[in-house]
Amino acid sequence: MQGLMQDVPLSLTHVFERAERLWRDKEIVTATVGGGRERITYGAWAERTRRLAGVLDDLGISKDGRVGTFAWNSARHLELYFAAPCSGRVLHTLNIRLFPEQVVYVANHAEDEVVFVDRSLLPLLWPLADQLETVKTFVVMDDGADAEIPDDPRIRDYEELLAAASPVADLAIEDENQAAAMCYTSGTTGNPKGVVYSHRSMTLHAMATMLADTFALSERDVVLPVVPQFHANAWGLAHAVAMAGASIVMPGPDLSPKAIATLIEEERVTIAAGVPTIWMGMLPELDGRDLDALRLIICGGSAVPRALSEGYREKTGRPILQAWGMTETSPIGSVATVKSTLVDRSEDELAGLRASVGLISPLVDCRIVESGTIDVLPWDGSAQGELQVRGPWIAAGYYAEERSPVTEDGWLQTGDVATIDPEGYIRIVDRTKDVIKSGGEWISSVELENEIMAHPDVAEAAVIGLPDQKWGERPVACVVAKDGASLSAEDVKQFLNGRVAKWWIPERVELIDEVPKTSVGKFSKKDLRARFEEEAASA
Ligand code: ADP
Repeated sequence: MQGLMQDVPLSLTHVFERAERLWRDKEIVTATVGGGRERITYGAWAERTRRLAGVLDDLGISKDGRVGTFAWNSARHLELYFAAPCSGRVLHTLNIRLFPEQVVYVANHAEDEVVFVDRSLLPLLWPLADQLETVKTFVVMDDGADAEIPDDPRIRDYEELLAAASPVADLAIEDENQAAAMCYTSGTTGNPKGVVYSHRSMTLHAMATMLADTFALSERDVVLPVVPQFHANAWGLAHAVAMAGASIVMPGPDLSPKAIATLIEEERVTIAAGVPTIWMGMLPELDGRDLDALRLIICGGSAVPRALSEGYREKTGRPILQAWGMTETSPIGSVATVKSTLVDRSEDELAGLRASVGLISPLVDCRIVESGTIDVLPWDGSAQGELQVRGPWIAAGYYAEERSPVTEDGWLQTGDVATIDPEGYIRIVDRTKDVIKSGGEWISSVELENEIMAHPDVAEAAVIGLPDQKWGERPVACVVAKDGASLSAEDVKQFLNGRVAKWWIPERVELIDEVPKTSVGKFSKKDLRARFEEEAASA
């Protein structure tokens, strides 16, 4: 027997129209280039979004046409987030920090027809214009920067186009599986790959962020996504705010700790989200600030050191809420909330739970398998295997790419090595490509980093494996000392003594000025490895 319920498509048009109707007076705030702030209500934003859909018609963007963005987080970017998919196009957020040849590759591969670019970013994009084979128009969004606007017929002005366009009254998506947006992975190996989200996946994912045991994001929140809108859709938060009717604060180009802390304080932000490097930089900035409104600091994208999470607990009274995910998982896969049945564990054990990536989200399944097979391993907290996931907001394939990330039995291969304990807490041991095999045994670079970063004089630490004649590979720790601290390699080794197995302790500890970062602000072990390999080759 079939259920007798309505089968209404899950689409972003519903999210948009509900926000337009119910939250007219709620605010979207954007920090601008000159240090000012622009404020717009959802009502005015919705009207502009409908006009923007008209602009896409006027520019002749085809059905399914890819609408590129090359922009900071802003209210205008949020207009694009809804105008493109709700009018049947596909939003394609380009990562502004990719190397130029990668931007060219990605825009050509996705076949972007237009790119909306912030004026402050035009000097980065315009030199590539002639190589972007399918882009006919560049629409400049004037964010107050003084970058020169070249005199070229391909360049149009956002506000002028908006003023001339008619608002589109009828936004309807019939097929919930229609593409709504795409994001390319930042391509740590090989070319970036396109993940294509559907209206259905984005709607369900936005709803998942509102669940009480994930972020409990609600209409009462003021949300600051420090995570860029080009990094897995600002982790889904930009859609979630519209669904919930929450106020949103867009940080614009200034992501310095001071600017972010000021926004949190002055806009009374309740939820802020960013990668660990953002929160590491912010910690010293918090002294003396009124952070009373802040209830949730979401952190993910790479391992969150326990010392960082506990540091926030001491300073703000709130630990960081760790989440795990990937561009391929929309991105929320798991969230490290503490089960009510476990709250009476010791402080140390609780800190350990918070330092895990937590419990798999509702509607997503996870398993760990023996590497290279589909042999499922037990949830015993010690068996290590590749983490695999499946669910309605998990990628089933890449855009125009033969290689599939999905196993023959339908699970996404994450490339992360993890353990899962009997309570369901997932711990990421390493990325497959970062694990260190020394004398036939695995060393977790993530765990070593965690321990090193617990040293009070350490600001950042990244551990990589380098070839070793005797052991196959040995860990090398690259450590950045806190400003003004005097720290030696020997201090670090001493500190590790007793905290990790003896054979884990790196013989080589390098004190460096800064850990290189990827385009989305994660530690770039690829760059670190290259640095040491070059050094070895020239020795
Ligand atoms: P890229 O692969 O280019 O870094 P993604 O943002 O999609 O782009 O990265 C996803 C990866 O980030 C995951 O596969 C995982 O290795 C890592 N990651 C995400 N969240 C966490 C976390 N909380 N702890 C450890 N690693 C994480």
